[in-house]
Amino acid sequence: MDHPENAKEYKGLQVNEGVEQPEQINPYFRRKKRRQLSVNDYVEGILKGDITMLSQAVTLVESVLPEHHALAQEVIEKCLPFTGNSVRVGISGVPGAGKSTSIDVFGLHVLEQYGGKLAVLAIDPSSERTKGSILGDKTRMEKLAVHPKAFIRPSPSAGSLGGVARKTRETIVLCEAAGFDKIFVETVGVGQSETACHSMVDFFLLIQLAGTGDELQGIKRGIMEMADGIIINKCDGDNIRAAQLAATHFRNALHLFPAPDSGWTPKVLTYSGYYGLGIKEIWDMVYEYIDFVKKNGYFQYRRNEQAKYWMYETINQTLHDEFYHNPLIAEAIEKKEQAVLRGELTSFTAAAQLLRMRNEDNGK
Ligand code: GDP
Repeated sequence: MDHPENAKEYKGLQVNEGVEQPEQINPYFRRKKRRQLSVNDYVEGILKGDITMLSQAVTLVESVLPEHHALAQEVIEKCLPFTGNSVRVGISGVPGAGKSTSIDVFGLHVLEQYGGKLAVLAIDPSSERTKGSILGDKTRMEKLAVHPKAFIRPSPSAGSLGGVARKTRETIVLCEAAGFDKIFVETVGVGQSETACHSMVDFFLLIQLAGTGDELQGIKRGIMEMADGIIINKCDGDNIRAAQLAATHFRNALHLFPAPDSGWTPKVLTYSGYYGLGIKEIWDMVYEYIDFVKKNGYFQYRRNEQAKYWMYETINQTLHDEFYHNPLIAEAIEKKEQAVLRGELTSFTAAAQLLRMRNEDNGK
């Protein structure tokens, strides 16, 4: 059929017949088959700080294929003895708060001031549409993206929050084994992802903006309670007074909360990510905190609690997935639900019957 643009009214826009693509231009060409890497290949590469190998291992961790899962777990386990010697900082804020602008500046600052290597990871389960999110995207952190000591990895693809967060946590292990001693975990400040982020970092930094005077209203109490430091961004130009006022509000609000287990009183600072003002004070605060909790034992305590949390979280998630992916159950669950709605079964009986099916399927 002729292309519609070849019609008369499109004179000058002739579409020519294409030339057929030969199957192979060079008959001797053989696509090099990529050798399946072994656990040791990955681990050796990672321990050498080989970024390509690290990236491939992270891809393995993020893979949904069952055969990759087992391999990834082995790699992570072998890396474990080489991890833990890092400072992990969670950075959260609503979209537009200035996370990417700030992380770019923060990253350059810590690398310059403290040396070492920085990995920027992210947790964002919200972005179903784009499959994996823009958080942690290189294009948003222009200077860090080209910094030889920085490794930026966007959030694992969309999925359940637990799944996405677990992958980010496993990626931390790999990055630390590869010699990254500073880890930023970026997360978007709109819900449960903060809790997940909080459960894998040593210091949780909350970015806030000065609003119309009622900025405290929009913030869930739980999120404020998690913060080890609250930083008010965009304290520049006409916004300085408002930012300082917001800081006062936050300080007052923090007084109303019970003292955190760490013994550390969360601080509220103002800064400008865009103009690079107040950055040093923020990182002095973070490192002061790290010193403080290392001395009083809370640093290790929090990491132990996090390790426990992730063990139970993984169990819960695995049980959940196994149950709902069981074909017998998937088939029966709707009928049971209908029976409950019709009043023929109680919720508890229906649940008990479905739970029994799981055992039947396992042949127990
Ligand atoms: P994110 O969505 O949290 O990653 O926020 P971005 O870093 O993309 O910043 C959102 C907008 O705020 C951008 O237009 C930035 O240029 C602007 N912005 C970020 N930091 C500052 C700052 O310190 N001062 C001012 N005035 N604008 C800023």
